[in-house]
Amino acid sequence: MGLCLARELHAAGARVVVYERSQASPEQLPVHAAAAGMAAWAAAGMLGPSGFPAASGLQDFARAAAGFYPDFSASLERETGMHCDYRRIGTLASRHGMGAAHVAGSEDHANSAWNEPQLVQPEDYVLIPGDHAVDNRKLLQALCQYSRKNKIAIQAGCEVVELQPSPDRTIQIRTLRERFHTRHAVIAAGAWSGRIAGIQIPIVPRKGQILCVQAPVDLIRHVILGAEVYLVPRSDGRIIIGASLEDAGFDARIVPEIIARMHAAAAVMVPAIGEFPVLDRWCGFRPYSETRLPCLGPTHIPGIWAASGLFRDGILLAPLAAHELAGVLIGRRRNSDLLNSLHFNDGAAPERRREYNAYRFQ
Ligand SMILES: Cc1cc2nc3c(=O)[nH]c(=O)nc-3n(C[C@H](O)[C@H](O)[C@H](O)COP(=O)(O)OP(=O)(O)OC[C@H]3O[C@@H](n4cnc5c(N)ncnc54)[C@H](O)[C@@H]3O)c2cc1C
Repeated sequence: MGLCLARELHAAGARVVVYERSQASPEQLPVHAAAAGMAAWAAAGMLGPSGFPAASGLQDFARAAAGFYPDFSASLERETGMHCDYRRIGTLASRHGMGAAHVAGSEDHANSAWNEPQLVQPEDYVLIPGDHAVDNRKLLQALCQYSRKNKIAIQAGCEVVELQPSPDRTIQIRTLRERFHTRHAVIAAGAWSGRIAGIQIPIVPRKGQILCVQAPVDLIRHVILGAEVYLVPRSDGRIIIGASLEDAGFDARIVPEIIARMHAAAAVMVPAIGEFPVLDRWCGFRPYSETRLPCLGPTHIPGIWAASGLFRDGILLAPLAAHELAGVLIGRRRNSDLLNSLHFNDGAAPERRREYNAYRFQ
């Protein structure tokens, strides 16, 4: 999220500095992002707007975010010369379990059109033609490359510990190394956003363990949402199999039994997957808010903004969220109807509702 926002702000002429807690400089990204549990590195890369509940406004936002992707990824590729592997492959969603939310309202196409010969019981699945995928690691590397090319400062290994408003209406940022002042600060610290002192962003981590196997190219051709796990094919043949969803704080341990269970569940869907050993396994921390709504917009402290809480869908939502936020931050627009349309209204206590509906443009 932070790098998407930095790119948008830079393109609009703002001077941007990104503070990154881990040592995730562009060159060291693969090593440090994984160790840090960065969600953008850990993710599977599904771009699935069809699974959102209509009531929260997130469904409209997610559809708009999916519509934004082709242009976003093409521009980033042009700007950096790097390929993000954005693939319009569609999704097959099981009518049971994890895929069921995506199935509602979707069209049921003939099985023969799916061209997915390895899938067991294809009649249990529905094709969702508009849910695609991207290689989120390539995307992240392209965003790092954009920053490097455009001289956006990324201060790696520099943890922000506190934000405070100053009497001169600037924001004082305290990092582990230094203090300085700025007119605007955006908290885009993912699952860690709630740990920055001086302001309360209601975000906590939800751990996800995930694995991949190396299969022949095109063993499967769609994202497949099964009853227990999903499968996301990469263009080099790797298949990402995910993911657990755990309330385990920032515990980054990988549990071999969970990995083995997901691998076995994938092999029930596509038996050939059982023949390939696990190539890699890792985990990341999704930024979760109790309402499932992201915190995107101004906070109650003037000059401090939030860009967090994208939970399970930040790869899909971040590019458009960054575009909308940047437009208001640099004063190009007063408002974002799209961001304001996100609302929390599920019958919770009024004070909770106020808390989560706080990130609104006036
Ligand atoms: C297993 C898994 C699978 C997923 N699959 C998908 C998917 O298929 N599709 C999808 O759309 N989404 C998916 N997601 C969700 C998606 O990855 C997240 O929603 C998204 O990456 C959140 O982006 P973020 O920038 O808020 O957080 P992150 O990507 O975690 O980035 C936060 C950054 O802030 C840094 N940071 C933290 N604290 C500080 C601090 N105090 N000072 C400075 N820097 C700090 C961290 O080191 C990190 O680099 C998945 C997530 C997981 C874990």
